[in-house]
This record gives sequence, structure tokens and C-alpha cells, in this order.
Amino acid sequence: MKAAILLLPGDGIGPEVVAAAASILRVVASRYRHQFDLREAPIGGAALRLGLAPLPDETLTAAQNADAVLLGAVGDPEFDRGDSSRRPESALLAIRRELKLYANLRPARVWPGLEASGPLKPDILAGTDMLVVRELTGGLYYGEPRGIAEDGTSAYNTMRYYRHEIERIGRRAFDAARVRKKRVTSVDKANVLETSRLWREVVTALASEFADVALDHMYVDSCAMKVALAPSSFDVILTENMFGDILSDEAGAVVGSLGLLPSASLGDGPGLFEPVHGSAPDIAGKDVANPIGAIGSAAMLLRYALRLETEARAVEQAIEKALLGGARTADLADPAHPRIGTREMAMAIESALLALPPTPVN
Ligand code: NAD
Repeated sequence: MKAAILLLPGDGIGPEVVAAAASILRVVASRYRHQFDLREAPIGGAALRLGLAPLPDETLTAAQNADAVLLGAVGDPEFDRGDSSRRPESALLAIRRELKLYANLRPARVWPGLEASGPLKPDILAGTDMLVVRELTGGLYYGEPRGIAEDGTSAYNTMRYYRHEIERIGRRAFDAARVRKKRVTSVDKANVLETSRLWREVVTALASEFADVALDHMYVDSCAMKVALAPSSFDVILTENMFGDILSDEAGAVVGSLGLLPSASLGDGPGLFEPVHGSAPDIAGKDVANPIGAIGSAAMLLRYALRLETEARAVEQAIEKALLGGARTADLADPAHPRIGTREMAMAIESALLALPPTPVN
């Protein structure tokens, strides 16, 4: 396969973790005989430093023309005091809006050997591997009308969902479940909200197109409890914007370090793949950042943008092997293992990838 992948390293630890993820993509390309054209463009503080906008037009055009975009992180204390349109972070909202990304996918899995590094008891966490599929462009965060009453005594927001918005995010969740454990839990508050009742009706109707995937429904409050009490009971969680915002952070927190978490944002054009963490200026340039969130995002890019499931699984299996072999960056360090840097972690994952059989991995 030939694919154009745009790399947007950005700020802080962004360039270090994107370099690590790019090295893994190069290994995948040579091992599985693909041609990945990896190009870089500036974004965030890195673009501002060149005298450009946080999201330069050339960067946006390159993203629109790519098959997929891999972003590091944006945010630089140097620009914290500028006006808000010149803040590095404004590039993130702009690129998500311009690429019309309506689906946010956040996996939360516990890697073997790291069961004790999360806040839950290891036996509760063991086997956790869920994917939160969050609607990203509708609901309470965007609904109109919204505002604060003139006399300041009240404020209001509007939660509105259209059938087509629910249907398209629902399809993403069912599709994702097909290459996982084939279970979707649709999360709503249908006992209270009309939008949730429509949500439930549309998702239930959609399920008939995906007979191989099991569907159940759960209220958001029970779901929040169950994510903390029995995280391993979930496969795919499908939910609207605000519930997903909260549940995806909760799911990420139960599995441990921020440096481990990948994400994908999908629309009908090129998708955007990025680790969940920010630019971490406190550790930037020191070769200590954990690159697994970025490398996991590259695996998601292979799976969801390029439909290369075998290659995506191979990368995830290589991460697992490296961790089982004792590779630990500072954020994961425990007394039993020496700390290694960003580059060394990437090399450990690369070696594990090269040691896998080149045939399909299950
Ligand atoms: P952060 O995620 O950058 O860092 C939070 C803490 O986690 C820090 O102590 C950091 O050292 C640690 N950390 C983060 N990623 C790590 C990794 N890969 N390995 C090891 N440790 C890691 O969040 P913050 O400190 O609140 O924000 C810093 C900057 O990043 C701000 O400018 C913020 O606006 C920006 N930000 C950007 C994004 C993004 O680009 N998607 C997301 C969040 C924050």
C-alpha cells in the first residue's frame, strides 16, 4: 500500500514522541512492504516561532491532502500570555474543526505487567481493554441557543442531537467492535433526557445492520461506576460528547500513566491520531518522555486510517513484548526495572516488532 502520512510534531515532547512513532511506521513499511510517505509540517508554538499562524494554511492543506495525520502535542509556556488566537493550542481546535472530525476514539487498556501501576487493585484491572467512542461535534458543547441571561441570574445550554449524527458515530462504534470483542455498550441518560431517548432508538435500530455485534445500553451514572469497579467488563463504549469527555478521562485514569494513552479522531476525510498527553514542557528535550501513547496512536492510524489491522496488532504486540521484557520509561519506573529513555523505549519496541513473525498476528 502507498500512503501519505503527515507528521505534526508540535511542541515540548511532541517532536520526541513523534520521532519514535515515525521510526515504528518506517519499520512497519519495510517489514510489510508498504510505501509510507512521511512528511513533517509545523503546528502550534513551532509554527509561531517561524512567524506563521498556529495552524499555517500550508499545514492545513497538507493535512487535508494526506491519508492520515499523526500529531505530537502543542503548547508552549513562551506563548501563554499572547492573545488567544496566537496560542499554540488554538491550532488543535482549528485542525479538528477543519478536518470535520466527529468521532473520537480513546482506547484504555492495561498492558500486561503494568496492572499494579494504576490506582485500582491489580486483579480488578487485569484484562482491561476498552475503547471509548465519543461523539465530538454535537450535543451540549455546540448546541444553540446558549448564553448567560442579561441580568446575570441564569445561564443556559442546549443539548440537541440529530438522527444522522447519532447514526454516523454509531456506525464507527459497531465497526470498531467488529475487530475487537464484538460488544457495544451504548451509554445515555434515557431515563431523564429526550436526546438520550432518541440516541437509544437510533442505536438500537442500527444494531440490526451489525448482527455479529452484541449491543447493550447503560445509564451514564452506572457506567461511570462500572468503569471504576469492573473495567475489564467493557469492550466498546459508545456515547455522546459530554458523557464521552468524562468517561474517556476516567477510563484513561484507571489504566495508569498519561504517557500510555493513544487516541484517534475520525471524520469522513483524513483522521487525526495523537497521544492524549500534552506537550509536557517540564520534561521536554530530556529524552525521558514515554513514547507509547504516540506509538499506540500510530497503531490506531494503521487500523482506522489505512485499514491495516495485522500491522496495527503487530505494533501493539511489540509494545506488549517490550513492556513484558522490562522496558520502563521514568513515568512507569518501578524498583525492579532500570529506567530507560524515549529513544531506548522506541528501540525496544522496534526490536520486538522485528522479532515478530511477518505473517498475520492474532
Ligand atoms: P501534559 O499532559 O503535558 O503533562 C501532565 C503531566 O504528565 C506532566 O507532569 C508531564 O511531565 C507528564 N507527562 C505527559 N506526557 C508524558 C509522557 N509521554 N511521558 C511521561 N510523562 C508525561 O499536561 P499539562 O502539563 O497540563 O500541559 C502542558 C502543555 O500541553 C500546555 O501548554 C497544554 O495546553 C498543552 N496540552 C496539549 C494537548 C494536546 O496537544 N493534545 C493536550 C493537553 C495539554
